[in-house]
Amino acid sequence: MIIFNSKFRLKTYLESVRNQAGKCEIGFIPTMGALHSGHISLINTAKVQCDIVVCSIFVNPTQFNDPGDLTNYPRTIENDCKMLEKAGCDAVFIPEVSEMYTSHELELKKQGIEDKSWTEGKTVDFGIIGTVMEGAYRPGHFNGVAQVVSKLFRIVEPDKAYFGQKDFQQLAIIKSMVKQLEIPVEIISCPLVREPNGLAMSSRNERLTSLERERAAIISKTLFQVKALQKEKSISELKSFAEAQLKTEPLIELEYFEISNAETLEPLTDYSQATGAVACVALKLGKVRLIDNVVLY
Ligand code: AMP
Repeated sequence: MIIFNSKFRLKTYLESVRNQAGKCEIGFIPTMGALHSGHISLINTAKVQCDIVVCSIFVNPTQFNDPGDLTNYPRTIENDCKMLEKAGCDAVFIPEVSEMYTSHELELKKQGIEDKSWTEGKTVDFGIIGTVMEGAYRPGHFNGVAQVVSKLFRIVEPDKAYFGQKDFQQLAIIKSMVKQLEIPVEIISCPLVREPNGLAMSSRNERLTSLERERAAIISKTLFQVKALQKEKSISELKSFAEAQLKTEPLIELEYFEISNAETLEPLTDYSQATGAVACVALKLGKVRLIDNVVLY
């Protein structure tokens, strides 16, 4: 596995690979590191579907709305590289912040101004997808995600890019961005991977105490109960049930529990409003913010 810190070196390498191999499919997995089996499942899928697999590890400052969250985000680069090598990843891109952003772009972030230069002059509107749930609770988050992913796509120019359903709303944002900017990449959606106790795997889980990790099982338990009860209860009954159950855990501070249209992410009040639905939750467990979801139908 080759490690790149420079975008130009990575671009040159990928150009030579493309030239040598003729038809060569490049699969790309953007990550923020502190890798776990959820990330590796994306690499494994890409390995099956592509000739060359590229992963990036970059804790993107522009997508953090809470500076403390950025500082405390786990960083385990050495172990990450070992895991990627073992999984058969061909190249990993680990840029410094200065490799990805100009000082002007960082200054805009510091001043809390949403930098829209990633749209390259086009009008990009995420509509409701960008304003509900994570969009409402993490102002500027999706703008930062779109900004960094569009930059990474311009560097790697992948044929396929792999994203996990763990971040269901992010996946919808990326699909919308690619469509609106007409970026020639296929977005592959990969299933959410869980711990044995049902907790959705997340880099942030490393910051949970063992007690919190144990108590976190109630999150997925509630989501799966909601899925099981969907034929018996109305949407508002399901939401009340889930909220009440999550509130029984004193370590949990609930942000939202929502049942949404799986495509538009619009909140649903009635099943007949959508051909697919997803239950999404965000909460704080101790100091750590967690999200999870289950597709209902
Ligand atoms: P992150 O490093 O958290 O930005 O995640 C990088 C990619 O891995 C994103 O597409 C995530 O949705 C995906 N991912 C993270 N955790 C999981 C998981 N438990 N199962 C599946 N995919 C995941």
